[in-house]
Amino acid sequence: MENLSSFNRPQIIQNLKTERYDLLIIGGGITGAGIALDAASRGLRTALVEKNDIASGTSSRSTKLIHGGLRYLKQLEFGLVKEVGTERAVLHRLAPHLVVPEKMLLPLYEKRGFGSLLTSLGLKLYDWLAGVKPADQRKMLTKKQTVEYEPLLRPDEVKGGAIYAEYRTDDARLTIEIIKTAAQHGAEVINYCCVTDFIYREEKIIGVRVKNEIEGNGFEIRATIVVSAAGPWVDELREINHSKKGKRLHLTKGVHIVVARDSLPVKQAIYFDAEDGRMIFAIPRGPTTYVGTTDTNYTGNKDEVYASLEDAVYLVRAVNRTFPEAKLMLADIESSWAGLRPLIHEEGKSASELSRKDEIFESPTGLISIAGGKLTGYRKMAERIVDLVIDKSFQDRSLKDCITDRIHLLGSGFKNYDEVRSYRSIVLDHIRKLGLPDVYAYYLVSNFGKQTDLILKDIKGGDPEMELFKAGLRFTFRNELVIKPLDFFVRRTGMLYFYKNRIAQVKDAVLGEFQEQFGWDAVKRNIEEENLEKAIIKVTDFK
Ligand code: FAD
Repeated sequence: MENLSSFNRPQIIQNLKTERYDLLIIGGGITGAGIALDAASRGLRTALVEKNDIASGTSSRSTKLIHGGLRYLKQLEFGLVKEVGTERAVLHRLAPHLVVPEKMLLPLYEKRGFGSLLTSLGLKLYDWLAGVKPADQRKMLTKKQTVEYEPLLRPDEVKGGAIYAEYRTDDARLTIEIIKTAAQHGAEVINYCCVTDFIYREEKIIGVRVKNEIEGNGFEIRATIVVSAAGPWVDELREINHSKKGKRLHLTKGVHIVVARDSLPVKQAIYFDAEDGRMIFAIPRGPTTYVGTTDTNYTGNKDEVYASLEDAVYLVRAVNRTFPEAKLMLADIESSWAGLRPLIHEEGKSASELSRKDEIFESPTGLISIAGGKLTGYRKMAERIVDLVIDKSFQDRSLKDCITDRIHLLGSGFKNYDEVRSYRSIVLDHIRKLGLPDVYAYYLVSNFGKQTDLILKDIKGGDPEMELFKAGLRFTFRNELVIKPLDFFVRRTGMLYFYKNRIAQVKDAVLGEFQEQFGWDAVKRNIEEENLEKAIIKVTDFK
């Protein structure tokens, strides 16, 4: 049995109870995942606990870009732009199917946004800080070229544009593949287990108390060092630790809406300004285009974050301002998501002005917390944390230096994006032979990379579409700690966002497979079906 098999849960919990770990990480978002991989690959005995599903916090609700943050140049955050900008190429190398080059179009206008000279200089600086290869460096465009790149733009308003290099990803899939790779290096990982308290000896943390959210029991885990990578919940854990003093988190909400590609048929990713000057992305993905994000202060329930009517109206208006021919309406929205940025509070600064840099807090009892930062910077954040952990407690051990820039993520095994393309055409042949629509080749390779082979091999006789999903689900049972249908439909496949209409078709087959594999009775199946239905309603129910 694989070490992240959902069927292995009792054994994982047993190990967590009995082992004594060097490092225990709280939080299975990208930050915790990155730390787990770095620590385990250096030789530390590592465990990670997540209170909900892997990547269920901010790390499945981002803009899904691996980017240097062009916007942060305006805030003079050169260090941040350099670090995350440089990381883009590293992450692409580690998982070319998941971190995919995406040229970004920036249209320029006479009376709005940045001027041409400033944009040209800004993008040059951006490329220079990130060490972008000459062939990929920014190109300034004439008005004619800009409209050719994106015919949906208004030719009477656009005066030119720029095209520059970024990368797109799937945040939740990136997180799960990092966690799987960490488990391969020996990390013990469990989801649906919430840290409720710390255990102390002589006023130093020596472990945590955990509530098992599935089986309902509690248990303890012992570790020399505890790191909290709890994202928006970092301050809650600092409160439990009585160490929430000085700096604190400032949460801001960011919303994305998803429409059918036909409703907003942009040819490529584009970065444009809303009425209030905020910059917004429109990004084509599979059969959809998604648009975001907003940036507003948030003090509500951190476990229930959704797009409001105001958020949806703001994004629809921003789209229609730049692409009037789209005539987008609220009714065109097929899905949405909302996430919280765990930023560090700075007195007098607005949501958009707050720094995206990460910060580390150390408490007198030894709790190390990390917050802020970007998806893109996860590897460097992890390196800083693990260096600190080793410095504090393991200097006497001969541990390796950080090697995560050389560890290919599971599902990868491609040398570059051309190899991903070739592999996708092999998968496409297979998909066509099964009589399935071409889009499933894209769906499989972008989500699972080379692991697609294992899914295709496991397809049994019967309706090919149902069998494809059942085989995909069995793969996630065996390898990705899937416990609930929403784990599969949201974090392992992104179906709730990008293939929502297919859920109705495959739902019965998927729920049936859950019933069969986990021995669910009818009551349990109904509860999970209702949860799924509620989630489907929530993504377009703007209150
Ligand atoms: P999270 O992903 O929130 O993970 C924290 C985890 O801790 C959660 O899963 C939570 O359930 C768990 N947890 C909390 N308390 C406990 C407990 N007591 N016990 C156990 N587990 C616990 N960055 C980019 O690089 N590119 C982008 O395009 C981008 N776009 C963004 C757009 C939006 C709208 C937002 C909000 C952010 C965006 N970011 C982007 C930033 C990036 O998404 C975040 O920096 C990153 O996901 C934060 O990850 P994290 O692991 O720190 O937090």
